[in-house]
Amino acid sequence: MLSERKKAYFRKILSRMLDDLKAKADVPATSLAPLLRDESLDFADQASMESGTDMALHIKEREARLVLKVTDALERLENGTFGICEECGEEISMKRLEARPVTTLCIQCKRKQEIEEKLRGL
Ligand SMILES: [Zn+2]
Repeated sequence: MLSERKKAYFRKILSRMLDDLKAKADVPATSLAPLLRDESLDFADQASMESGTDMALHIKEREARLVLKVTDALERLENGTFGICEECGEEISMKRLEARPVTTLCIQCKRKQEIEEKLRGL
């Protein structure tokens, strides 16, 4: 079980992550595109402009998914399931939680999942 001090610690980290993500979310993808585009490319190159926008949208998607994960982790912190592996119900190590506060799997289950994903990919 997580101590109140640890809970407060993770609540702070996760809230800060959420604030950062929300601040970034205010920037529209189209304004990110020129920043991501290779400076050496011709500005008239329509294809490179599109790939820049694609990349920006891709980053947006990842951010949106991360917002969901962080929100979920904050909820789990409130209902007392934070730090407990979704798969096996064991406690996730503090080291792993500190490195990745949004994780829902212990290292054993995560490894198992990665192996299964790899096998499915073959
Ligand atoms: Zn597990």
